[in-house]
Amino acid sequence: MQINSEEKKAVDIREIRERFPIFAQRENRDLIYLDSAATTQKPDSVIKAVSRYYREYNANTHRGTYRIAEKATVEYERARKTIARFIGAVSERQVVFVRGTTEAINTVAVGWGDRVLKADDEIIFSELEHHSNIVPWQMLAQRTGARIRLWEMDKEGRLHLDALRNLLSTRTRLLAIAHVSNALGTVNPIAEIVQLAHDNGTRVLVDGAQSVPHQQVDVTALGVDFFAFSGHKMLGPTGIGVLYAREELLDEMNPVQFGGDMIESVQVLTSTWNDLPWKFEGGTPNIAGAIGLGAAVEFLQEIGIDAIHRHETGLIRRAVEQLQALPGVRVFGPPGDRGPAVSFEITGIHPHDISTLLDQRGIAIRSGHHCAQLAMKKLEVPATARASFYLYNDESEIDRFVKAVSETRDYFAKWL
Ligand code: PLP
Repeated sequence: MQINSEEKKAVDIREIRERFPIFAQRENRDLIYLDSAATTQKPDSVIKAVSRYYREYNANTHRGTYRIAEKATVEYERARKTIARFIGAVSERQVVFVRGTTEAINTVAVGWGDRVLKADDEIIFSELEHHSNIVPWQMLAQRTGARIRLWEMDKEGRLHLDALRNLLSTRTRLLAIAHVSNALGTVNPIAEIVQLAHDNGTRVLVDGAQSVPHQQVDVTALGVDFFAFSGHKMLGPTGIGVLYAREELLDEMNPVQFGGDMIESVQVLTSTWNDLPWKFEGGTPNIAGAIGLGAAVEFLQEIGIDAIHRHETGLIRRAVEQLQALPGVRVFGPPGDRGPAVSFEITGIHPHDISTLLDQRGIAIRSGHHCAQLAMKKLEVPATARASFYLYNDESEIDRFVKAVSETRDYFAKWL
């Protein structure tokens, strides 16, 4: 039997860490960075790609006829092709550069939703969504008179397909759903969800902010209608992300930013739009950001996204098992498989106090509602502490983190 080289590949953490300049800084020598769900660190190749653009061929795209402008355009469009292949898009025309997941979802809400939704139509989103996949739909509902239906999760943060079956109706136009929850790590079965929704004639938008960085995603195989993700959560720069959509949907959608590159022709009273995907890229785009994101994808491909996924699966299992074994520590989220993020609390201690004490030991975790207030409400907590991992973390960091959590619990115990 031939073994795929990807299958054999293991992640060499030491070699990987050396490629992230932030870890080589003297002040960061002891930093344990466990907040990659918020944003990830950047490898040298991404920083260099951005810097090379500014140093060597800085020019606006799609307009200039001179050498460096042509190079800028070629590199910007090359990044789009790299990203399209990475997510399994049929064509790079389906890959629209936006600022990030939030802007991608808002673009669909306005460009597609305002055009398609009518009063009494229904939009479903789940209880574990990030606010970026809730508020644009609330605003759309207010503008159109459509109704929101909530797909509730259970106490462990799982969504059940039976509940979705009960919610879908002849009026359901859109289902908005996270691939992986940033707050609880829940991994949703997108292909099955899409199948159910499509059988009902319902479009599906998937928030892939926490999946694309960590696992193989094939938007075509999943059958999604819209898919959103952010560059900065996958080793790329901030201010760049992607809206993927099926071509016929992008064709029927209205652009939401008007001016500059999205124009084909302008008359006094009317105008016509450029081809896909530029129809949605009004104004000068984030050229350096797109080129940097292309470099980030090349980095992920070089290490191997399956190898990264396997490595993170090991880390999250180790973290969850060890945290669950600590008396006085409650771990939130589903049993079994989850994305590389774990939310927890120490009984009687505010999550902000946990993260502050961990920071004193050089361990960066996040505390708060993680922009998932509906999920927090269901868990009956105002906030949680959350550790999240990526390819540059290793087992020894997990062990030091759990030890620090245990010591934090003991430190506060005397006041409880
Ligand atoms: N959706 C999820 C699941 C997220 O984790 C985040 C960021 O934390 C977002 C959406 C918003 O991403 P951005 O701030 O990059 O637009």
